[in-house]
Amino acid sequence: MSEEKKSLNFIEQIIEEDLKTNYKVSDLKFRFPPEPNGFLHIGHASSICLNFGLGLKYNAPVNLRFDDTNPLKEETVYVDSIKSDVKWLGFEWAQECYASDYFQQLYDWAVELIKAGDAYVDSQSSEDIASQKGTPTQPGTASPYRDRSVKENLELFEAMKNGETGEKAHVLRARIDMASPNMIMRDPVMYRCLHKAHHRTGNDWMIYPMYDWAHGESDFIESISHSFCTLEFLPHRELYNWFVERVSKPGELVPKQREFARRNLSHTVVSKRKLAHLVEQNIVSSWDDPRMPTISGLRRRGYTPESIRTFADSIGIGKRENMIDVAHLEFCVRDDLNQKAPRVMGVMNPLKVVITNYPEEQEEWLIAENNPEDESAGEHKVPFSRELFIEQEDFREEANRKFFRLKLGKEVRLKNAYIIKAENVVKDDNGNILEVHCTYDAESKSGSGTEASQRKVKGTLHWVSIPHAVEAEVRLYDRLFSVEDPTADKEKDFLEFVNPESLEISKAYVEPYLKLARTEDKFQFQRIGYFCVDRDSTEDNLVFNRTVTLRDNWKNK
Ligand code: ATP
Ligand code: MG
Repeated sequence: MSEEKKSLNFIEQIIEEDLKTNYKVSDLKFRFPPEPNGFLHIGHASSICLNFGLGLKYNAPVNLRFDDTNPLKEETVYVDSIKSDVKWLGFEWAQECYASDYFQQLYDWAVELIKAGDAYVDSQSSEDIASQKGTPTQPGTASPYRDRSVKENLELFEAMKNGETGEKAHVLRARIDMASPNMIMRDPVMYRCLHKAHHRTGNDWMIYPMYDWAHGESDFIESISHSFCTLEFLPHRELYNWFVERVSKPGELVPKQREFARRNLSHTVVSKRKLAHLVEQNIVSSWDDPRMPTISGLRRRGYTPESIRTFADSIGIGKRENMIDVAHLEFCVRDDLNQKAPRVMGVMNPLKVVITNYPEEQEEWLIAENNPEDESAGEHKVPFSRELFIEQEDFREEANRKFFRLKLGKEVRLKNAYIIKAENVVKDDNGNILEVHCTYDAESKSGSGTEASQRKVKGTLHWVSIPHAVEAEVRLYDRLFSVEDPTADKEKDFLEFVNPESLEISKAYVEPYLKLARTEDKFQFQRIGYFCVDRDSTEDNLVFNRTVTLRDNWKNK
């Protein structure tokens, strides 16, 4: 890993090459350019960590730019959530920018292009325009409006802008080359009419720029040196350069588009459009449902910003699209929480244990170390009494020698407490075990330093004291989709692969220390997994989300 870490990824190599030729370090400037049409997901984290990571590495500014050119899909709630997610991930942007702030400049430039004979108003239907595109091996057909006079183009374009024409009556197209081998260069559309209010510009504009026209020009306006996008934009690079050349001066430093591969995560979907379906069809409760691969969903699930950054850095930047196993993401959070999460005890499937030789009215507050990985994490107190819960699966009347938990006639240690021995069981008429009666070794208290306290027994169990136990709701999450790639089969709707058992709501008995827990506090429930307090949690009704189990349970499936 460290070897790989040191070697530069191909994006860094591009920058290093540029620094040897025509760029100074002070020319470097990057941006992260989301469209505010949904919440950010784990795929975006790769792009965020790439761009902001480069900013930190070169001490260069990074802008947060909202690519808000489509009022049909964009909303202020998405702007707010994106800002909050980027901040939470731990990054600071130099400037908060909006493509919509450049609408006037883009319009003025479009007018210049018309005057230079580089753009024209096409009054055909979108179907006709599409039918004239040609194929990769055959040139397209020129529009009958391609040679309109500059004067007529300018008049029509202004009328479009003012909303004086029908929405479908005209578009503005760049006048490039209908025979270009790159089909994207065959007179691409620059503007369309949309008589819709925009979340920031209201009704000021009745035309909206297309991605290709807005993106490179926004980069140019902000003096971005390197504009990184995902691979599907590779064929757009030629057009990006063509447009930037039209608005810049000869010899001026202009932004450079370079492409990297999208990252996909197994057992989920990383596409805002698909994630929106899950929300709209109530398959999940919200964009920040803890099963969602959104940044806010992962946050609510109990992921830390560090674990997401480690994940993004460890998968790195590549040139080929690939699928990352979600187990790797889970590994990253497990590893981070192991360092950070206080250890507590909670019992999911309670079985009553009575310690028959422990005085009835007695209680003790025992010392529990918060984190064996981190001495500075301190300790807290856990109450012990005569009646306890342990997990049902931690007791058997009889079992073979490999069963290191509690069985009749044998001893185990109760974590942070005493060694107990199972003596007999109390059953109901149907033979179900109601109680396990045990005795304890009063000399064996953990940390007491006595000889008995150092006695080695094979198993250590977690437990809670029944009179002190607090009932909590636990939400146990599993993978949202039951197959690795729900979009692999193009004949099928990806929703068919939703895992019907992705959420199980259950009850647990937890130690009273957890009453003090606040939203987003994270814990290791010993021997079970990592849990995080949900925002639905109240003092009277604690709610925990299971972030991840202690081990990868899927390996064996
Ligand atoms: P989606 O298809 O989910 O809507 P998008 O690419 O349309 O994603 P944008 O808001 O336009 O989303 O993306 C902002 C930035 O994040 C872009 O530079 C985009 O290339 C990058 N990005 C989006 N998805 C991924 C991904 N899965 N892996 C890496 N980068 C991504
Ligand atoms: Mg998009």
